[in-house]
Amino acid sequence: MRGIAGAGQNDRAILLTGQDGRSMQSYGNHFVIISSRVGWSYCGPNAMGNKKSNETYEQLCRHAREVAILSATQSLLGWDERTMLPASGGDYRAEQMSYLAGLIHRKQTAPEVGEWLSELASSELAADPASESGADIVNLRRDFDRKTKLPQALVEELAKLSVLGQQAWVEARKANDFERFRPVLERTIALKREEAAAVGYEGELYDALLDEFEPGAKTAEVAKALTGLREQLVPLVAAIAQSSRRPNMELLKGRFPIALQDQFGRRCAAAIGFDFAKGRLDTTNHPFCAGLGPCDVRLTTRYDERFLPGSLFSTLHEAGHGIYDQGLPRERYGLPTGEAVSLGIHESQSRMWENFVGRSRAFWQHFFPLAQQTFGEALGRVSLDEFYFAINDVRPSLIRTESDEVTYNLHVLVRFELELALLHGDLPVRELPGAWHAKYREYLGIESPTDADGVLQDVHWSSGAFGYFPTYSLGNLYAAQFFEQAGRDLGDLDAMFARGEFMPLREWLRTRIHSEGRRYPAAKLGLRVTGQPLSHDALIRHLRRKFTPLYGLK
Ligand code: ZN
Repeated sequence: MRGIAGAGQNDRAILLTGQDGRSMQSYGNHFVIISSRVGWSYCGPNAMGNKKSNETYEQLCRHAREVAILSATQSLLGWDERTMLPASGGDYRAEQMSYLAGLIHRKQTAPEVGEWLSELASSELAADPASESGADIVNLRRDFDRKTKLPQALVEELAKLSVLGQQAWVEARKANDFERFRPVLERTIALKREEAAAVGYEGELYDALLDEFEPGAKTAEVAKALTGLREQLVPLVAAIAQSSRRPNMELLKGRFPIALQDQFGRRCAAAIGFDFAKGRLDTTNHPFCAGLGPCDVRLTTRYDERFLPGSLFSTLHEAGHGIYDQGLPRERYGLPTGEAVSLGIHESQSRMWENFVGRSRAFWQHFFPLAQQTFGEALGRVSLDEFYFAINDVRPSLIRTESDEVTYNLHVLVRFELELALLHGDLPVRELPGAWHAKYREYLGIESPTDADGVLQDVHWSSGAFGYFPTYSLGNLYAAQFFEQAGRDLGDLDAMFARGEFMPLREWLRTRIHSEGRRYPAAKLGLRVTGQPLSHDALIRHLRRKFTPLYGLK
């Protein structure tokens, strides 16, 4: 789960974190930057190891924590770039960040790290991979191998191509001209195939790329869950599209003064358990969350005076990421056992608070009176049910980042299936726009009139982030499974939300998920928490339960 270059969708695209930065980001509407944890204490002597291996383990931990200090600094520069940096400061910021990325890479791939890891592999400290030391050693080994297996020339060309790719993508998108992007995309795909070969895989090339973002995940398992999801979603979306019931969207487009949106968003984020003494909320173009230290988690959002849901649900989403970061074991900061598991698990936390909680009727039973009081002019005459329906509007649309809870996963599926076909060589790049349109027709029943709003809408492929898209849907699948289990364990969650009680859920997540760090890979963590393997069933149950009454479906 290590860094990729990302530049969001702005034209002043700079490298935020190099391929080697110990951080990761999601793209588009919501970003998450997870830096490594900077620690305060040493690992401490371990009763299990002998003196020599204890010393080596401490050396390894100290080194990992130093890398985390550099990474958190790099993430802070990235946060600043997106929130505060004056327009002409970009060039020097890119230099700073690229210098740090190089420094971090050299530290992470230093030969002594490999020697320490080899020595520790046979020690008592590594015997149980689910112990703190065992999990640290296993994960650091994995990260070290991934980085050192890539030839320097390939790393450099990928980094260069990601900058060029993003520039070509910005131009192509502006001109609505896929051909301008095609050559660099072809080269990127060739290099990603080389990267997969260098990292190594058994049978499925895509496994090697997916592993960067979702460690340990296998393409076949992900494809099985996502295909199952598609089979259920396509008819559900069609049924909703045919329903005569429609929410009145105009009621969300009144006047919502920005200062009041900010105030209201903070109330909601604090209520669900984001600790503002250990975090901040600021404004940006493309919302993201950045964990910058054990007690420093930055949320960002954006405001539109004429549309409340934009800022509100971004704030809840990013607060979900932030609550996860704040719940990681502070004393393990900088070590794998103090880090988030994967992008999919991170996204499960944000999606749960945004959709399963924030878009539930129960949440608004509690918050709607305050919303009416705050935005009297816009919401004074609106009923709770009208508002609840409007914030749960479902309709097939062209843009992934603006899509609703039901259609969202179909957007992700289109990208997952296409990138698999591109990497397997089953789909020539020149045929990509046509294949894109065909899948949108098939899954969502619509077609984009342009490539700018079609195949060119996301930044991911331009920066070489192949294997990233499915983690968005994995987040939704895990969120549904966790939420269902939380309901079993805690009782009537809706009744709690309606009373404004959100701490029982946050504490449940903290105990079962956040406090575990990277002790277990995502699939194993999911199994431990829910007793079930990854599946689409819980998500489909949730969507049917929610949208059948709203749209009067059978
Ligand atoms: Zn997110």
